[in-house]
Amino acid sequence: MAEPIPTDFSTADWRSAILLAYPALRPGADKDSLIGPDDSLFPMSGPTGRSPRAHLDAPTTGDQFIPAYPLSRDLDNRTEPFFDPGRVRDGAFFALLYGNSPADVEAELETVTFGGARFHVTARNGVACQLRAAFTLLAPHRATLAPFFEAVGGGYVWRRISGTDRLSPHSWGIAIDINASLGGYWRWTGATEGAVGDYDNRVPWSLIEAMERSGFIWGGKWHHFDGMHFEYRPELILYGRMLEGGGR
Ligand SMILES: [Zn+2]
Repeated sequence: MAEPIPTDFSTADWRSAILLAYPALRPGADKDSLIGPDDSLFPMSGPTGRSPRAHLDAPTTGDQFIPAYPLSRDLDNRTEPFFDPGRVRDGAFFALLYGNSPADVEAELETVTFGGARFHVTARNGVACQLRAAFTLLAPHRATLAPFFEAVGGGYVWRRISGTDRLSPHSWGIAIDINASLGGYWRWTGATEGAVGDYDNRVPWSLIEAMERSGFIWGGKWHHFDGMHFEYRPELILYGRMLEGGGR
């Protein structure tokens, strides 16, 4: 018999965070498996305890939660090399959720707009719906935010992450980039990996927090900062709330 989904927020549990964040997934027969939207069995391993740097290439599902994504406005965490919560991604997990080829993903894309900016994101797992919800929260601030939604980087594109052979989360239609010149990106500073300096953030917290409330993490909290980048990772937001004991 499948285990029930634990909903006790008094202890942070990354498996519960996944099951609560993605209703299309069901618990498997034991804690080390999930049943996917297509009824396939997905083996799920916990955190391996390796260094965050080692996680990047071949993370387990549990490794994605280390380090935990912080919900505070504190950007001091990111001075620690490889403090990149959410930048570690288990590709098989996202293929299960969103599809394994451009054709798979493209079949479910929708356009979400904010002012004149257009973003193509997937409708799967509520991503387009949640992006609309964030933009609704931001509507009163449209004039202030307008520069951040000019010359946007956009949403879906099937590609590898710059300088790596890892698939970008833009490939699954779960990420958007706002105005790149205002967001900032660590590679443009000339820094080497693991030795990125200060991030001079210009993205308003009103924008970041509306996105977080809707399930999107922000790349500006990463050591390898990507301040234009938002990505639908409701499991990480939920896990962060669990660690805070309920939180916002
Ligand atoms: Zn991006």
